[in-house]
Amino acid sequence: MIKVSKSEDVPESLSTTKAYDGEDVKRQLFKDQNSKCYLCERHLTTDFEIEHFKSKDNYSQLIQDWNNLLLSCRYCNGKKLNHFDNLLNPLTMNIEEEIKQEVDFTNTKAKFTSIHDETEAGKQLIELLQRLFNGSKNIRTLKEENFFNYFISNINRFQETVNNYLLKPTPPTENEVRTALGVDKEFLGFKYWIIKSNSTLNSRFSKDIVWNK
Ligand SMILES: [Zn+2]
Repeated sequence: MIKVSKSEDVPESLSTTKAYDGEDVKRQLFKDQNSKCYLCERHLTTDFEIEHFKSKDNYSQLIQDWNNLLLSCRYCNGKKLNHFDNLLNPLTMNIEEEIKQEVDFTNTKAKFTSIHDETEAGKQLIELLQRLFNGSKNIRTLKEENFFNYFISNINRFQETVNNYLLKPTPPTENEVRTALGVDKEFLGFKYWIIKSNSTLNSRFSKDIVWNK
């Protein structure tokens, strides 16, 4: 999960209709979020929903508030529901700098750690991310397993790209890493920490991490 930079122009339908899911709202959010779910960072296809950052159930006054609307995939929206109303806000914070996002290969899990003093909002966000990536219970359901397998193969591919560069730092291998860090690419929160945790990679590619600038 990373920071999301959202357009300040409020889509017209939010002030002229009673709906929050007008086509102009969806279009703007798709553009602002680079066609990705803001929670899991997978590409959105047709499987998306307008997500109320503070839930509709508990914050009815924010149902049509542009600052409260984000796009998420159905999988993430279904896990968040109205249980997570106090989360670190990706519209105002560099989430990738607040939460360390790594893969624990030994336990086949994603691992999330607070970088700064843990706040209630930080704790809630880690709890939610853990449910998304590791499943709600001890054993993943089939749906959760499919999600994790997709995620891990993406990260493995990135790790391979990075290893190719480290073994043979040439312009083509360097370009491949750079491309994989593009703002429209998936799982950038995890890629950020792969780069950050290696001094060679960090000195070479930190300037290519542009989404939080
Ligand atoms: Zn998602």
